[in-house]
Amino acid sequence: MREGYKSILEFLESNLEVEEEQEHLYNQFAGVSQDSKVKETFQHLARAAKSHRDALGKVIRNIETDDHDVNFYCLMCGWEINFGKMPSIGNEERCPLCCQKFALIDIDNDYTIKPLP
Ligand SMILES: [Zn+2]
Repeated sequence: MREGYKSILEFLESNLEVEEEQEHLYNQFAGVSQDSKVKETFQHLARAAKSHRDALGKVIRNIETDDHDVNFYCLMCGWEINFGKMPSIGNEERCPLCCQKFALIDIDNDYTIKPLP
């Protein structure tokens, strides 16, 4: 498991499982539907679940291969702060909008940020 992503990876993997189950169920429902419109609707829903599953899988792979930027929203103004790929704990970045400085910290294998004076 990638350092700093424990809760995010757990969340993404549980969502991936939900999308897999939905795709399976929608395909089953499409298979037994007698009405062509109902069948099409379930086929559409199954394709949507597959797209969600593929997108979630891509994010997980990007995290696991360190090809993912660590971003946070500024605690003061809400603007995005980018710590880049594979940052080190203790790295400091300024909010590009309000200039507040933050340090990247780790709490129980989750990245988070701490405002600096
Ligand atoms: Zn800010």
